Amino acid sequence: MYLLDNLLAMARIKDRLKNNSPGPFFVDSGCIDCGSCWHIDPEHFAPTGSSSYVHTQPDGQQEVEKALLALIDCPVAAIGAPKHLTAKSSADVFPILVTKHPAGDVYYCGWSSKRSFGASSWLIHGDEGNVLIDSPRWSAPLAKQIKKMGGINQIVLTHRDDVADHANWAKAFNCERWIHQDDADAAPEAEKLVIGLDVLSLRKNLKLIPTPGHTKGSMVAVLGDQQQILFSGDHLWWNPKKSVTVASKDYCWWNWTEQLKSVERLLDLEVHWLLPGHGYAHEFMPGQWNEALEQTLRHAARAPSSVKI
Ligand code: SF4
Repeated sequence: MYLLDNLLAMARIKDRLKNNSPGPFFVDSGCIDCGSCWHIDPEHFAPTGSSSYVHTQPDGQQEVEKALLALIDCPVAAIGAPKHLTAKSSADVFPILVTKHPAGDVYYCGWSSKRSFGASSWLIHGDEGNVLIDSPRWSAPLAKQIKKMGGINQIVLTHRDDVADHANWAKAFNCERWIHQDDADAAPEAEKLVIGLDVLSLRKNLKLIPTPGHTKGSMVAVLGDQQQILFSGDHLWWNPKKSVTVASKDYCWWNWTEQLKSVERLLDLEVHWLLPGHGYAHEFMPGQWNEALEQTLRHAARAPSSVKI
């Protein structure tokens, strides 16, 4: 078993941010405001607008374990907790199950990387082998757990920003990497390229759909034919406060007009889970996906100068 204290740098108590709630867990000034902690444990972590803070201290073993997930996930070791809570804690806690699907069970990998600004990565565990969607930071405990689950057969890199430690994962599991040709300079070692706008069937129940906009080579991955799981990279994410699906002009690095056309390309999907690189994940009820995307497109049309939500 990997123990937390032997593996991770810890946040510094002298840099504890003032707005943390009094108690054992804290965020320090090294926080880069990536959002990983409040996505995985919103009961204890929240954004201030420029960083994260502990809004409520965990109460009881189960809540402490949840807060420790955030601590492990943090890409810059900005979350601290006292030794009596970390010394005997296992680091073998990721990946964690998000949802079961007939085409493969989906796990959240944790271990976010600073290189991808804390982007989320996901593992599909299926009959045809496992697929890693975007790259977590290299982690021996995570690699050990994934090995137990059968390793990695393919890595899909949704776009140039979230390639992180793909080289370590590809080497450890001797697997092929897929990236779009237009973002391939971010991972020149990738063995396979998606070219142009055509949808590519990576396997029976997994499609790659090019969605240029956020970057020129952005693409999404869609698992299943019904009740689909959409791995959206930074093309789309969920805003829980406003209950809207977000395509962001402010975070569009290549071409906003093309990004909106790429949003339209996804209207006919039947998405059950939206699992993004950044931002919140969301579970949709039947029929809600199309309505949510229409709303996103209407909002973009009404506010052409900005769709920051
Ligand atoms: S995960 Fe770490 S860096 Fe990211 S917002 Fe939380 S404390 Fe800050």
